[in-house]
Amino acid sequence: MTLSGFDQCEVCNAEQWRMIYEGTVRDGFHGSFCDGAAVARCGQCGVDRLAEEICPDEQFYETDAYRQKLGQGLTTGAYFATADELQRFAIEAIGHGTLRDKTIADVGCAGGSFLDHVTGIARRKLAIEPSVIYQDSLRKRGYTVFPYSLDAKPKFGGEVDYAVSLQVIEHVRNPRKFLADIKPLLAPGGRLLISTPNRRDILMDLLPDEFPSFFYRVVHRWYFDIDALADCAERAGFTVENARTIHRYGLSNALGWLRDRRPSGHTRLHGIEPPADRLWRGYLEDNDRADCIFMMLKVS
Ligand SMILES: [Zn+2]
Repeated sequence: MTLSGFDQCEVCNAEQWRMIYEGTVRDGFHGSFCDGAAVARCGQCGVDRLAEEICPDEQFYETDAYRQKLGQGLTTGAYFATADELQRFAIEAIGHGTLRDKTIADVGCAGGSFLDHVTGIARRKLAIEPSVIYQDSLRKRGYTVFPYSLDAKPKFGGEVDYAVSLQVIEHVRNPRKFLADIKPLLAPGGRLLISTPNRRDILMDLLPDEFPSFFYRVVHRWYFDIDALADCAERAGFTVENARTIHRYGLSNALGWLRDRRPSGHTRLHGIEPPADRLWRGYLEDNDRADCIFMMLKVS
């Protein structure tokens, strides 16, 4: 069935959209919203997408205005202020001891925080990033810079032991093509780690009136759960090696949302100590309800 505002699914080519959300969505930081947005689910592959009419076009990703919308800062220093503390989750998802002497590519690396965290262990480091505002700094730190995966293919095709792409696939024009373009870079036995927000985040159920307008946002075209991301990866020629959700916030964040109906980030509520965070995180991750999906892929 066709749905007004939704064309053929970029992931699976079907036209079986079903509306799942209509209303306001986040436009940049919390507190700035865009009205009249729509999110629909593909009846064949299960991906959710924002109606294309309010999504920024692809050239926008290379601009300062886009980075400002993401809240990532217009300098590499400003980017580090938010990005550095998140890298431990990617390291955790990779596991230990696997990156030594390897060739690593970070696809959509922004200011290169992940690469900084594996410097000293990895042998060669590719920084794949279309935004020019970061490229000088990436080169100065010794990374080999390419705008897109296909640009790296002539020199590094079949050479990459580990590719990562953290919180990028939700932005791109075609997520299946995005993954398929990374595939030729991988060495035999190579792996690709993908992370993206989890649309089964428990706050979607706990705050059905407030959280969706925060979770859905203008700069995120695509919304996945584990099954939908696995389907997309398989259509791009990958096999899922493992998939899990990881929760990056403490219990105080959820309680703050429930009490104040707005985000409080990592602010700790008085009386909610780390043991409570560990229980909360364990519960969410055991049930795939944590805020972020991490999926390890290998070439089929
Ligand atoms: Zn589809």
